Amino acid sequence: VDPERVRIKTETEMRAFGASLVHTIAAGDTVFLYGELGAGKTTLVRGYLEALGHRGPVRSPTFNLVQIFPTEPPVVHVDLYRVKSHEGLGLEDNLDDHVTFVEWADRAAGLIEQDQAWIIKIEFAAEGRVVIVVPAHAAPHS
Ligand code: ADP
Ligand code: MG
Repeated sequence: VDPERVRIKTETEMRAFGASLVHTIAAGDTVFLYGELGAGKTTLVRGYLEALGHRGPVRSPTFNLVQIFPTEPPVVHVDLYRVKSHEGLGLEDNLDDHVTFVEWADRAAGLIEQDQAWIIKIEFAAEGRVVIVVPAHAAPHS
């Protein structure tokens, strides 16, 4: 399966793209987010949460590491920027009945099989960003 590549010109478009994912990313799904600081990882998660009816701030949980939102489905938002590994955060306990978004997912190795996670990469482009989406089970084995 070829990954989907989407050009995202503005922050508003990134939120709308995140919102559009509620139709495909569901409870039990884990999303590994890749992209440099300021790429738009948190903005995408914000759009997803707003589409679920969440009203209120969505910030990178850089200091508290994990934020849980009581939406339907419930969402776990993780930011591993300041740690080496996801171990000790108890993420395993919520994977089955939450949607789990992981920023700096290179530090989540071993949380689940790589091809069981959605992979979303956000790259800086001349005009805005390019988002690359690889659905779960479709990631190439490496
Ligand atoms: P990350 O979580 O990847 O560090 P954030 O989502 O917190 O990034 O921040 C992205 C920043 O980039 C925001 O300040 C946002 O307004 C800005 N921005 C500018 N253009 C875009 C775009 N096309 N998509 C997403 N964010 C954008
Ligand atoms: Mg962030």
